[in-house]
Amino acid sequence: MGYVYDADNIFAKILRGEIPNDTVVETEHALAFNDIAPQAPVHVLVIPKGPFVNWDHFVTAAAAEEIAGFARALHQVIEKLGLEPGVGGQGYRLIMNAGEAGVQDVQHLHAHILSGRVLGPLIERA
Ligand code: AMP
Repeated sequence: MGYVYDADNIFAKILRGEIPNDTVVETEHALAFNDIAPQAPVHVLVIPKGPFVNWDHFVTAAAAEEIAGFARALHQVIEKLGLEPGVGGQGYRLIMNAGEAGVQDVQHLHAHILSGRVLGPLIERA
C-alpha cells in the first residue's frame, strides 16, 4: 500500500516556516528541533526535509543522499548535545513511532532523541 503525504501536517508547516520551531541542527536534508512537550530533559525531534510519512515510506521512496543526510543529522544532534556514550556522553534513546500501534500523531517522519536522565523501561506495560 502506498502513502499519501498530507502537506498540512504541523511539521510540514514548520519546514515552510509558517510556524516557529526551536532549532537544534539544520542541514541540507534534515531539521532538528526541541519537542514542544518534552518527555525528558532532552527531547529533540529530527525530521527529513522531504515529504515522507514514516520510516517505511522514507527508506523505500527517498534518495540515498536524503537517507544518509537524515542519519548523519541524527548523529550531529547527538554529538552537539554531548550524548554519545562512546565519548563520555550519557547516552540516549531513539524512537520512531509509526502507524496505529506505534501511536504516531504527526504524519511526517520524525525521530525522537530522548536523554538527560536514566529513562527506565522501554515502554509502559499495558
Ligand atoms: P508522535 O506521537 O511520534 O507523532 O510525536 C509527535 C511529537 O511532536 C510529540 O512529542 C509532540 O509533543 C511534538 N510536537 C507537536 N507539535 C509540535 C511543535 N509545533 N513543535 C515541536 N514539537 C511538536
